[in-house]
Amino acid sequence: MITSLRGFRDILPPESDIFARVEAAAREVFGLYGYQELRIPTLEQKELFVKSTGDTTDIVEKEMYAFTDGGGREIANRPEGTPGVVRAYIEHNLGQTGRNAKFFYIGSMFRAERPQAGRYREFEQIGAEHIGNPAPAADAETISMLVRLLEKAGVEGCSVVINSLGCAECRKAYREILLSFLRTHAGTLCEPCKGRIERNPLRALDCKIDGPKLAQEAPKLALCPACVEHFDGTQRLLGAAGIKYEVNPNLVRGLDYYTRTVFEVRSTALGSQDAVAGGGRYDDLIRSMGGPAAPAIGWAMGVDRLAMLLKDKAVIDTAPKAFVIAAAKEAGDKAFEVMTSLRAAGISADFSNFALSLKSQMRSADKSGASFALLIGEDELKAGTVAIKPLKVKGEQFTVAAADAPAKLKELMR
Ligand code: AMP
Repeated sequence: MITSLRGFRDILPPESDIFARVEAAAREVFGLYGYQELRIPTLEQKELFVKSTGDTTDIVEKEMYAFTDGGGREIANRPEGTPGVVRAYIEHNLGQTGRNAKFFYIGSMFRAERPQAGRYREFEQIGAEHIGNPAPAADAETISMLVRLLEKAGVEGCSVVINSLGCAECRKAYREILLSFLRTHAGTLCEPCKGRIERNPLRALDCKIDGPKLAQEAPKLALCPACVEHFDGTQRLLGAAGIKYEVNPNLVRGLDYYTRTVFEVRSTALGSQDAVAGGGRYDDLIRSMGGPAAPAIGWAMGVDRLAMLLKDKAVIDTAPKAFVIAAAKEAGDKAFEVMTSLRAAGISADFSNFALSLKSQMRSADKSGASFALLIGEDELKAGTVAIKPLKVKGEQFTVAAADAPAKLKELMR
């Protein structure tokens, strides 16, 4: 037997319904905030991620599904969405359309991480990117949109953590201070950190092993006045939007391109993989990728983790309203016709196998969770009628003209 790959999973009903519900809630909220969908490819040139996400980050260094294709090209499955959006923005001059460059995407991301609960090798992200607005209002808007989306999807009990990583200027000074600290403490660092501190000292702060200790001991970043003003403005507007948040100076986030505001949404209900969504500002990325100087901010949210949080919530009712039964051999064609007319009228309808016994078809009707069974036997066939039997509520079976069945059911469903 061929099974699915480790870390890759089938999303079965009813979990697939939760995914659909979260996606629908997201589309609705994105509409309210002026976001348009961008469908980016799952495969890109590997270099895109190396250059944007950063070659010292875990997801590029260790977790990328990268390969050389038949034409000798270096290809990678996208581990995150932002690089593809940025590439598309530059490639199609999306800053020139006259509209706000606000985009969302929904789709699979791929990372060869060690699988565990809430961590898969293919997982779905819903992400948002707002390009071209440097103001704190963009930061406050994107964070509050994320919170509203989670509320809309029915997720409760999440907390928002924010921090500012400063701009290139404040980071330049801090890099030197941090680097000299890390050099003197190199003996206590994990092997990967030892190897990368010279290339990217900030990464050590986000390391799963060294990060917590460094958060206590390492010198802290001092923001320049412009970054202080930006961060204050963001917090003021978050307050105005009624968003509760906590400032955590140790929130670093593992990607290279972040500047200024970074944030994460967490849920204690998730256990060790507690991040539901994360994001931040990336004011220098687009220019560094060969595009115009366009400041930007975005986030990505993990739908698999949301589905874990929502799995005990009322499951969506996918039972058909009507279950159509042929109670006589010759009635099958008519039953099929009635079923077609129900669907055309917007009533969900299903059937099992018109050739089976009445008893067996009735059993299927009960199992389906349908509200009504519609039976067509010899008598009904002759009279051009349908017998309607309520399955979920008490009530007698009654007969209507076959042509009136959709209208009658609609009346009963009201
Ligand atoms: P990141 O791009 O790492 O900030 O991830 C953003 C969100 O995607 C996280 O908060 C998670 O909800 C989700 N996520 C990241 N990696 C995984 C994974 N391997 N499996 C499932 N969800 C993930």
